[in-house]
Amino acid sequence: MENNLATRCLKVDPVRPETGAILEAGRILNRGGLVAFPTETVYGLGANALDGRAVARIFEAKGRPADNPLIVHVACREEVKHLAKNIPPAAEILMDNFWPGPLTLVLPAGAAVPPETTAGLKTLAVRMPRHPVALALIGAAGVPLAAPSANLSGRPSPTTAEHVLQDLNGRIEAVLDGGPAGMGVESTVLDLTGFVPVILRPGGVTPEELRELLGEVEVEAAFGDRPRSPGMKYAHYAPKAPLLLVEGAPGAVAARLMELAREQKALGRRVGILSCSGSRDYASVGEVVLAGRRENPETVAAGLYAALRRFDELDVDLILAEGLEDSGVGLAVMNRLRKAADRRIVAGSPVSFNGKQP
Ligand code: AMP
Ligand code: MG
Repeated sequence: MENNLATRCLKVDPVRPETGAILEAGRILNRGGLVAFPTETVYGLGANALDGRAVARIFEAKGRPADNPLIVHVACREEVKHLAKNIPPAAEILMDNFWPGPLTLVLPAGAAVPPETTAGLKTLAVRMPRHPVALALIGAAGVPLAAPSANLSGRPSPTTAEHVLQDLNGRIEAVLDGGPAGMGVESTVLDLTGFVPVILRPGGVTPEELRELLGEVEVEAAFGDRPRSPGMKYAHYAPKAPLLLVEGAPGAVAARLMELAREQKALGRRVGILSCSGSRDYASVGEVVLAGRRENPETVAAGLYAALRRFDELDVDLILAEGLEDSGVGLAVMNRLRKAADRRIVAGSPVSFNGKQP
């Protein structure tokens, strides 16, 4: 697709979005256009979910594989009745507890949803976002919005309007700039069409929170052979340089990372280090970008995608990333890092760096 549209950047207040900008964006959507907007997860790229031609333009603008379905965003629960064929009792409980918010439900699709939106599946992914700009925009459009993350396919998701323009300037009609998006990682995708609920993609709502309400909840493996969420089979969230993920206990991770960074530096490579421990030793061997603090995975989620994009600017040859624990939102962060690593994953060293925690 050509980059020949004049993409407008419409500034909006993230708490009380200005009516003028929202109405203008709503008109663009009603004409079949594409508008990127902030949500409490990342920036989304919206089109009228009921208009197959508008939705097809999302795939074109992002370069997204046609078999990867989109999440439909609604402004109220009632709308789900018009989109899903039926709503299981578990879905009602989850909507009561987590909507509006970062939880996407996979339900049987109704007839109103075009095949472009569901990528031809018999199921539909739907969520009600919490961000005032997202809710106002869906209201102004008067239709549900199909909205994947507003990045070129395969790239890190955008958490600012600037990130959106880096990828999609000239390919979409407008972006609503409401400042940084909220959590920094995408919604949790939960499949409710089987006997046991399955997390297809970990995200803002944690397995622990879901189990408290539903009892048994499965988590689909990051690298299963036949993922039930079509999107999960693609390499994702990738910065330009290859990323190697070091997993394990903090001291072991730091030790292995230092070892690898020294090796690579000696070979003349420019090494990027994605750190959440804040270890000072890294500065001597690479370009360090901090993303939050390991003890508080929410802060790592919030800084993750901006950090990955920062390495593009630093023009590093490779990135070494510190892993964190798979609990709480840490599971979503690790899922994104494992995808970005595209199977380049190593264990921490058996001997801690300097024999101490970094
Ligand atoms: P994105 O909006 O780009 O962050 O990705 C949406 C995610 O939801 C992708 O991993 C999709 O494959 C997944 N998804 C959307 N619709 C469905 C569906 N009907 N069944 C399973 N997964 C879905
Ligand atoms: Mg995405």
